[in-house]
Amino acid sequence: MSAALKIENLHAGYGKLPILNGVNLSVEAESITALIGPNGAGKSTVLKAVFGLTGWRKGRISFEGEELSRLPTHEIIRHGVCFVHQGRNIFPTLSVQENLELGAYIRANEASLVSDLERVYELFPALKKKRLDTAKSLSGGQQQMLGLGRALMLHPKMLLLDEPSLGLAPKILREIFEKIGYINELGTTILLVEQNVQEALEYSDKVFILREGRVEFEGTPKEVLASDVLKKAYLGR
Ligand code: ADP
Ligand code: MG
Repeated sequence: MSAALKIENLHAGYGKLPILNGVNLSVEAESITALIGPNGAGKSTVLKAVFGLTGWRKGRISFEGEELSRLPTHEIIRHGVCFVHQGRNIFPTLSVQENLELGAYIRANEASLVSDLERVYELFPALKKKRLDTAKSLSGGQQQMLGLGRALMLHPKMLLLDEPSLGLAPKILREIFEKIGYINELGTTILLVEQNVQEALEYSDKVFILREGRVEFEGTPKEVLASDVLKKAYLGR
């Protein structure tokens, strides 16, 4: 397997404030890679930096061999990378279907728009039923599905997911993880930021633990569980 996304010596932050202090992380093609770590470690900042949304970034970020670190967000999307952020990036007052159509705004092909909508509705039947309802009337789990659905409208090669389970009840949370697993099986590479360590370990092929803007550990879920790194990362030394 080869690395789809490669992050080397990434420094990034907001204003003068450095948040990431030399992050090295790679995501194998077609894997689910989890990025975990305590609150404030810089996990969201890693995803934002890859997507061109931090104030500044230094270091190398390459995707399928192409350098992303100097590209603006819309160019990064064209390379096949999509980001579903913690707030789920949906428009609350627009309908479910309008949200999905907006997800596809970058392409202007009507024919594929219809088939892409069908694809998303097949994956998330609950969204089809509610396609004319406003996004804000959806449950938390359905809003998360809509955020994922919007990203899928762009046929991403890679998804950056920031805490898809945030605020969801356990049953819905499992459903979301199962959908993510299925999206991955269809060939999409996934970098998943999670607070929910148990699920992150269960669903991922590889795990990176971030602490204070640096990768403290990388390994398989098994290796994480066999070490005391979780205790160290979350409880301090
Ligand atoms: P995590 O996702 O691991 O909880 P974040 O990447 O969101 O961590 O945040 C890391 C640090 O960066 C925190 O100290 C946070 O306050 C700061 N931070 C995040 N976003 C911004 C921003 N837009 N402007 C300034 N500081 C920010
Ligand atoms: Mg975060």
